[in-house]
Amino acid sequence: MLDMLGNIFKNLGSKPATRMYPFEKRTPYKNARGRVEGVAIENCIFCGICAKRCPSDAITVKKEEKSWELDPFKCIICGVCAESCPKKCISMGEEHRTSALKKEKAKYVQPPKAAGEEKAAG
Ligand code: SF4
Ligand code: SF4
Repeated sequence: MLDMLGNIFKNLGSKPATRMYPFEKRTPYKNARGRVEGVAIENCIFCGICAKRCPSDAITVKKEEKSWELDPFKCIICGVCAESCPKKCISMGEEHRTSALKKEKAKYVQPPKAAGEEKAAG
């Protein structure tokens, strides 16, 4: 009984152990894998390495239409795509993505390059 009273008074005087989420969010740890933020599509060469290495088949690369697509509902946030991209154009964010009402994919399409720009880029 005395033990219990001690605990009650200790807890009354201390801060709660939980947070008032979503009003109070925890600061993510440095280099935490929260989500794939996206791709710098202007630097993508559509080699498809990210799609081949993705263990959950979450990325679709279409060279002919110069598009890169991510299905965030398949992604397990392993970071392999970002690590294996030769152009380092996939970025990871530390914050987890918020919940969604629709199963939407994130699609990026590279805009056509100006004349001469294609040759310079190699
Ligand atoms: S983080 Fe992992 S699971 Fe998600 S798209 Fe990249 S390789 Fe695929
Ligand atoms: S690995 Fe990088 S350059 Fe290659 S398709 Fe994926 S995002 Fe584009």
